[in-house]
Amino acid sequence: AALGYVADTNKADTKKFPKHAKDQKCSACQLYTGKAADVSGPCSLFPGKHVMPSGWCSAWVKKPA
Ligand code: SF4
Repeated sequence: AALGYVADTNKADTKKFPKHAKDQKCSACQLYTGKAADVSGPCSLFPGKHVMPSGWCSAWVKKPA
């Protein structure tokens, strides 16, 4: 929660996280290990929990192309 995780990247707190951009989302994050077709997937930052591919948090790291 301290990382500002939201299930919908469009709902991220841009005042608190000015570097947030709408093209940043879990499915494009290096720490997301779910498959593209999954409804939700694991994130290595939140062990034992699933995050939404459309979600976002302030630890977002661009997935290498
Ligand atoms: Fe999503 Fe944050 Fe996990 Fe990246 S680190 S997959 S943005 S919850």
